[in-house]
Amino acid sequence: LIELRDVNKYYGQLHVLRDINLSVGRGEVVVVIGPSGSGKSTLCRTVNRLETIESGTITIDGEPLPEEGKGLARLRSEVGMVFQSFNLFAHRTVLDNVSLGPLKVRGRRRDEAERRSRELLDRVGLASQAAKYPAQLSGGQQQRVAIARALAMDPKVMLFDEPTSALDPEMINEVLEVMQQLARDGMTMVVVTHEMGFARSAANRVVFMADGRIVEDRTPEDFFTNPSSDRAKDFLSKIL
Ligand code: ATP
Ligand code: MG
Repeated sequence: LIELRDVNKYYGQLHVLRDINLSVGRGEVVVVIGPSGSGKSTLCRTVNRLETIESGTITIDGEPLPEEGKGLARLRSEVGMVFQSFNLFAHRTVLDNVSLGPLKVRGRRRDEAERRSRELLDRVGLASQAAKYPAQLSGGQQQRVAIARALAMDPKVMLFDEPTSALDPEMINEVLEVMQQLARDGMTMVVVTHEMGFARSAANRVVFMADGRIVEDRTPEDFFTNPSSDRAKDFLSKIL
């Protein structure tokens, strides 16, 4: 579904993505881990075209990423993204936050958009919070709203960039559970996370990055029991 071929990206002199080759199949869950500054967020952002690349190709569902205009808006709606900071609209209710995309971008009817948004809020365990404002919710609840909002666009793939890093420990699990369920439902997912429990239980593959390169790309069992590179061994010894 997602295919990156020989992707290179620079920030000025800094070579942040080096010869990245990665394919993610439909329904696959790929967890991306690696030290700070290794390029994980940049990788996510290139897939969503929030960043341009200097060389290589990225295709989604066989189509090259569009450069601009209408194609770009469609791509953004097909690739759902959830960030560390929830980025909800503070002056809109939870229900509005989830239904605005389908209303404005997809041109859905209000009753239809709201019905579906309520379904999604139910799916992330927040059916009773629809009329509240983001500030009235906990961090874990806000992040679940952000997930529902991304799902409301019917994305083909969901990208998560450290979705639980800004959360208090007791709220991490409620977000991970929603993500686990999404994975079980067959969503294609790329997840940058330090939650190794999630990687072990939900990932089909673990991609380990260091210095802008993919150093390992293996099954979780393989990766955690038998990392082959010194970089990965070193990283695992620090976080496990
Ligand atoms: P972290 O675990 O800290 O989130 P990361 O693996 O997500 O790290 P990136 O955010 O992708 O790393 O950054 C990769 C490199 O690119 C880093 O050296 C970073 O300083 C640099 N970088 C990121 N964004 C920019 C930018 N907009 N302009 C210049 N350099 C940037
Ligand atoms: Mg990052």
